[in-house]
Amino acid sequence: MIETDIIIIGAGPVGLFTVFEAGLLKLRCHLIDSLGEPGGQCSEIYPKKPIYDIPGFPEVLAGDLIDNLMKQAEPFKPGFTLGEAAVSIDKVSENEFIVTTAKGTKHSAPIVMIAGGLGVFEPRKPPVENLADYEDKGVEYVIKDPEFYQGKRCVIAGGGDSALDWAIYLTKNNIASEVSLVHRRNSFRGHLDSVQQIMDLADEGKVNLITEAEVVGIGGNGKVENVTIKHKTQGEFVKETDHFIPLFGLKPSLGPIADWGLEIEKNAIKVDTLDYSTNIPGVYAIGDVNTYPNKLKLILCGFHEGTLAVQSAFARIHPDKKNVLKYTTVNGVTGF
Ligand SMILES: Cc1cc2nc3c(=O)[nH]c(=O)nc-3n(C[C@H](O)[C@H](O)[C@H](O)COP(=O)(O)OP(=O)(O)OC[C@H]3O[C@@H](n4cnc5c(N)ncnc54)[C@H](O)[C@@H]3O)c2cc1C
Repeated sequence: MIETDIIIIGAGPVGLFTVFEAGLLKLRCHLIDSLGEPGGQCSEIYPKKPIYDIPGFPEVLAGDLIDNLMKQAEPFKPGFTLGEAAVSIDKVSENEFIVTTAKGTKHSAPIVMIAGGLGVFEPRKPPVENLADYEDKGVEYVIKDPEFYQGKRCVIAGGGDSALDWAIYLTKNNIASEVSLVHRRNSFRGHLDSVQQIMDLADEGKVNLITEAEVVGIGGNGKVENVTIKHKTQGEFVKETDHFIPLFGLKPSLGPIADWGLEIEKNAIKVDTLDYSTNIPGVYAIGDVNTYPNKLKLILCGFHEGTLAVQSAFARIHPDKKNVLKYTTVNGVTGF
């Protein structure tokens, strides 16, 4: 059981900044995210896009903003459970919630902050009949740790940046023993530079580039041993492999959050703007996941919501303690 003061579900920009604001009040946080990396939409959808409406930054890349938020949170030593979706919140007593992930990891705290953004990012899966039988047995939809593929044969499918980047990375760093890239079309959607690199690696015989083709079947005894590839004109053939990695992107869905007894409106959690509390006392919702009159889905607004929510959380955890607002400029962060 992981114990903390505030369990934050969602390690997007809003969840990360809330760690900082909670830290100023000496409240410890533990973040849970279904993705393998922190950063939410900023890291997953647009890490290289500049943002222009973060106060004090005329321009900042979304990925750099996340790096900075991680640095800002660091002095308060947040815990992380990454790559695991929170599937349930149970109130076990007046002052204790238990949040459990799909992998069974349990977290206990008096406060839960839901910073789940657009929800869980679910992988877009190819229509291969027995795909589910091989999930985590050689079929993976995200690459969490490239070293996992050391010395393995990999068939990657997809035509976007993710598929191209990982095919290049696993090949150029001599990680996988063999990399095949299967794509339905002849042209790719990724960056021109990545497309060129793949073409060069294919010409050098380092990547098997199989275009105008799709993976249509998987074979193997308890784990992936081969895939069946159907080529547009040449028909079907079987390719021996250890892993099949379809990288067709991720789509967001509110997921388990919708089943937690919270008041939901327009696919978002209704909150009281006094402190961004939900209809369940002790549970707050901040950032893109919440809704209220005049709500704007902006990072800046989420920062404000998290800041007010932790003030309210402090009063719940320490009903007898007076919280005096201090400026970070007076004592620095370490003075808190
Ligand atoms: C292309 C694009 C451009 C944008 N540009 C701007 C801009 O210029 N300025 C601006 O202010 N905003 C912009 N936005 C919006 C901004 O990205 C969002 O407002 C912001 O990401 C919201 O942050 P968040 O932390 O609330 O949620 P998110 O960033 O969505 O993070 C939520 C996290 O919660 C996780 N999660 C959800 N459910 C669970 C669960 N059950 N268990 C575990 N984890 C869970 C998700 O995996 C995700 O990592 C843009 C958005 C897009 C898509």
